[in-house]
Amino acid sequence: MKTDQYHVTPGEKVKLSNWNPNDDGGLHKEDAKPLDDKLSDDLFGWQERLFAEGKQSLLIILQARDAAGKDGVVKKVMGDFNPNGLHIANFKVPSAEELPHDFLWRIHAQVPQKGQIGVFNRSHYEDVLVTRVYNLIDDKVASRRLEHIRHFEQLLADSGTRILKFYLHISPEEQKRRLQDRLDNPDKNWKFNPGDLKDREHWDGFTAAYQAAIEATSTDAAPWYVIPANHKWFRDLVISQIILDTLKDMNPQYPAIDYDPKKIVIK
Ligand code: AMP
Ligand code: MG
Repeated sequence: MKTDQYHVTPGEKVKLSNWNPNDDGGLHKEDAKPLDDKLSDDLFGWQERLFAEGKQSLLIILQARDAAGKDGVVKKVMGDFNPNGLHIANFKVPSAEELPHDFLWRIHAQVPQKGQIGVFNRSHYEDVLVTRVYNLIDDKVASRRLEHIRHFEQLLADSGTRILKFYLHISPEEQKRRLQDRLDNPDKNWKFNPGDLKDREHWDGFTAAYQAAIEATSTDAAPWYVIPANHKWFRDLVISQIILDTLKDMNPQYPAIDYDPKKIVIK
């Protein structure tokens, strides 16, 4: 499957409305199952090579509005990996311990070590999104932070970490359906947060903040992808394909062995 159309070219002007959240690649959900099964097997295999090699790491950053499917991607896509080589970090409102530090302090502590795949469910991007929409920071601070983010991600890249950044793109109508479902379904009530409605009222403000952040930080070292996310199965397919292509491109190798397996006899 081709995924170039979801990649944000460095330096390109970003308008989220240029991507269709309803895109399903012309596929049907039933077509996706065999593709997804094959991707799952391949992802597992390549992760094992990455782990065995122990020289590079992969960091996957998930950003999205409420109910766009970050948790679903963690469960469905990252569920293909061996948990032993996976490090998942969830970033919430900074705690009393985190707040007195610079905004990257808590982030840097969670980046994957060599051999690992790291997943950020929200990330340092919150510090140029929610904070900007609610005027907790001004434009000058936001633009300095974006510069710090570019340098930080370049540092990680220079240290052997490949970075993939996914914006899960849903429509306001689809978000409404999913939030309503959380109200209607007693098993999902726990997921509903009245604060999400406040963010929803600022839909356009978040769009502007996302566009500015993605535009300023889609680089060769840390590319952004805008993932159509109205269809959960298609969202998972596209993300799985991009991760697989990236792992193959990283081309991790099993380490050389310093013995001849044929000459070893186990008594
Ligand atoms: P959720 O991911 O839905 O459990 O919610 C986490 C909440 O934490 C969201 O409302 C985020 O906007 C918020 N959050 C995460 N990081 C930050 C940050 N650095 N500054 C302010 N709010 C944040
Ligand atoms: Mg939420």
